[in-house]
Amino acid sequence: MAENYDLVVIGGGPGGYTAAIRAAQLKMKVACVEKRANKAFGGTCLNIGCIPSKALLDSSEMYDATLHKLASHGIKVGSVALDLSTMHQRKDRVVNELTGGISFLFKKYGVTPIYGTGRLLPGPQVEVTAADGSTSILQAPHVLLATGSISSELPFLKFDGTHIVSSTEALNFNPVPQHLIVVGGGYIGLELGSVWKRLGAQVTVLEFLPRILPACDGEIAAEVHKLLIKQGFVIHTNTRVTGATVRGNTVTVTAQAPDGQPLQFSGDRVLVAVGRRPYTAGLGLEEVGVKVDPQSGRVEVDDQFRTSVPGVYAIGDLIAGPMLAHKASEEGAVLAERLAGMKPHINYNAIPSIIYIWPEVAAVGATEEQLKEQGIAYRVGKFKFSASGRAKAMDETDGFVKVLADAKTDRVLGVHILGPRASELIAECVTIMEFRGSAEDIARCPHGHPTLSEAVAEAARMAWSGQPLNS
Ligand code: FAD
Ligand code: NAD
Repeated sequence: MAENYDLVVIGGGPGGYTAAIRAAQLKMKVACVEKRANKAFGGTCLNIGCIPSKALLDSSEMYDATLHKLASHGIKVGSVALDLSTMHQRKDRVVNELTGGISFLFKKYGVTPIYGTGRLLPGPQVEVTAADGSTSILQAPHVLLATGSISSELPFLKFDGTHIVSSTEALNFNPVPQHLIVVGGGYIGLELGSVWKRLGAQVTVLEFLPRILPACDGEIAAEVHKLLIKQGFVIHTNTRVTGATVRGNTVTVTAQAPDGQPLQFSGDRVLVAVGRRPYTAGLGLEEVGVKVDPQSGRVEVDDQFRTSVPGVYAIGDLIAGPMLAHKASEEGAVLAERLAGMKPHINYNAIPSIIYIWPEVAAVGATEEQLKEQGIAYRVGKFKFSASGRAKAMDETDGFVKVLADAKTDRVLGVHILGPRASELIAECVTIMEFRGSAEDIARCPHGHPTLSEAVAEAARMAWSGQPLNS
C-alpha cells in the first residue's frame, strides 16, 4: 500500500531539505527521502562540501596566522605543532552538529524522513529501496527531484580513492600530503589547495584554460593568481593533463605545456577538481519520461521548476545554473511556496559566489568581460584595501573592491571583491542589486568606521562620482 503525502522530496541536500521544511511550515504533508548510508540529511553541502571544507579552511587559516601573522602583531608563540587528527575531529563534530540540526528541524516541522534510495515511478510515485533491500511506495501529487551532483571524473585520470582523489577524500587527508597536485584551478582546487598548502604541503595547480577561476572577473582572477604564487602555490595554466601512473606512494601526472611539450609532475596525492555533474543514476528519469539536457545531463525545467512530466519538479545542482548551496536552498523554498499558492521569484542575477581562499573572493552580478560582451556602457569604481583603515589595523591589505555601475543610470551591475572577509561584505551588494539600487545608494548609506565595508562604499562612490573620499 502506498503512503500518501502532499510532497515527496528525493534528496536531502540544501535544495531538498529546504523545500521539505518550507512546505511543512506551509502545512503540507511532506516526506524527504535520503540515501546516505549514515542517514544524515544535509546533502553534499553539509556532509562532504561547504561545511567540512570551510571548517578546514578556518582551522588552517588559524594555523597559518599563528605561524606567519602573529609576530607582526607583537605576539610571540613557542613552538607551533599541527594536530591534524584533532583538526579533523573538530570538522566532523561541526558536520554532525549541523546534520543533526536538519533532523531536529524535520521533527519540529513534521517532515517525515525516509532512509533509502528513491526512484521515480509513473503517477508520480516514488519507490524507496531501504538499506536492507526492502521497498516501499510513496504517493504524492508533487514529487521534487533534488538529488544534486557528484564530482566529474576524467577518463584518463580515474579516481582510485587514495592517490587520485575527488574533494571527498581530499577533505580527509591524514597525514598532510607532501606534494599535492591539483587538477583544475576552480573553487575546489583553490579552496582545498589552500587548506593543504597552509598545513605544509607543496601544492601545484594544473589548469586547462589560460587562467584560473575562469568564471571570475578577469582582473580579480589575475590578482588571485599573483597572491597565490606569493603564498607558494605553483600554477600552470594552459596545461592539458594527459594521464597519471601510480608507483608506490608516488603519482606521476603527465601533461602537455601550451607549446605542446610534454610535462611531468610527481607528487603523493592528486586532487581532480574539474567540475561536478548532475546525479541522476537510478532515478528512473528515462522510464518516466523526464527530459534531461543531453549535453550537460541536467534535468530540464521551466521557470516554475516543472519538468516535462506533470507533478514532477527539479531544483538545485540537478538543474541549470551555478552549483551553489544557497542557489539550491533558494529554489527549494521558492518551489514550496509556489506549491502553497504564493508567488515568490528568484533573481538569479543577485546570487553571490564566494571562494573561501585567503584573501576571500566574492562577487555578484556581471563581470567586466560580460558587460563588454553585452555592449553595456558601464563605469568602474575601485578601492584598494591598502587604503582602508580597518584593513591596515588588521594587517590584511591585499585586494580591492570593484563596483560596476551602468554608465547612464548608475544602477549597480556587478560587484567583485578580493579581500579580507569578502564573503560577508558581498551581502550588502546583493541587497542593493536585489533592490535595483545605484552605486550612489551604496555610497550614501552610512558605513561604520573603521570597517572593511567602507571600502565597498568608497568603490561605489568612485563608480558614481568618479572619486573616492579617501584615496
Ligand atoms: P546535494 O547537496 O548534492 O544533495 C543531494 C542529496 O540527494 C544527497 O544527499 C544524495 O545522497 C541524495 N540522493 C541522490 N540520489 C538519491 C536518490 N535516488 N534517493 C535518495 N537520495 C538521493 N556551495 C556553496 O554555496 N558554498 C560553498 O562553500 C560550497 N563548498 C563546496 C565544497 C565542496 C568540496 C563541494 C563538493 C561542494 C561545495 N558547494 C558549495 C556546492 C554545494 O555543496 C552544492 O551546490 C549543494 O550541495 C547542492 O545542493 P542540492 O540540494 O542540489 O544537492
Ligand atoms: P569549477 O568549475 O569551479 O572549476 C573546475 C576547473 O577545472 C576550471 O577552472 C576548469 O577550467 C578546470 N578544468 C576542467 N577540465 C580540466 C582538465 N581536463 N584539466 C585541467 N583543468 C580542467 O569546479 P570545481 O572546483 O570542481 O567545483 C565544482 C563546483 O562546486 C563549483 O563550480 C561550484 O559550483 C561548487 N563549489 C562551490 C564552492 C563555493 O561556493 N565556495 C566551493 C567548492 C565547490
